[in-house]
Amino acid sequence: MAETAYKRPLPRRRGMAGEFYDYCKKHELRFQRCTNCGTWRHVPRDMCAKCGSFAWEWAKSAGKGKVFSWTTAMQPMLPQFADLVPYSPVIIEMDEGVRLVTWLTDVPAEELRLGLPVEVVFDDVTPEVTLPKFKKSS
Ligand SMILES: [Zn+2]
Repeated sequence: MAETAYKRPLPRRRGMAGEFYDYCKKHELRFQRCTNCGTWRHVPRDMCAKCGSFAWEWAKSAGKGKVFSWTTAMQPMLPQFADLVPYSPVIIEMDEGVRLVTWLTDVPAEELRLGLPVEVVFDDVTPEVTLPKFKKSS
């Protein structure tokens, strides 16, 4: 898909967030993990909130989690999302414990439920940007 064909906003790909999306581009979901105490964290940041360490690594997620929360938009927040209404941004709690805001690719709003098991899929929305989305676990 050409860069110009994708109309929705794209994430900033600088700093630690850029590193996160660089892994997504390789179809790897990685989160920061403290190398002092082992605590996972997301969104990316310098310091571990549990032990205060600045030592960390990009650790590969198993890619599995559960629906933690969602909202269903009946009015698009931006005109670029008008063709998707109604749409449901979801918060997934990964098995590693971190949460991220994302999309489900195969679950209509009326079928959403708390705890629904999901797994990551990668959507190459442009030649440069890949977004991690989720589908029902098989
Ligand atoms: Zn720590």
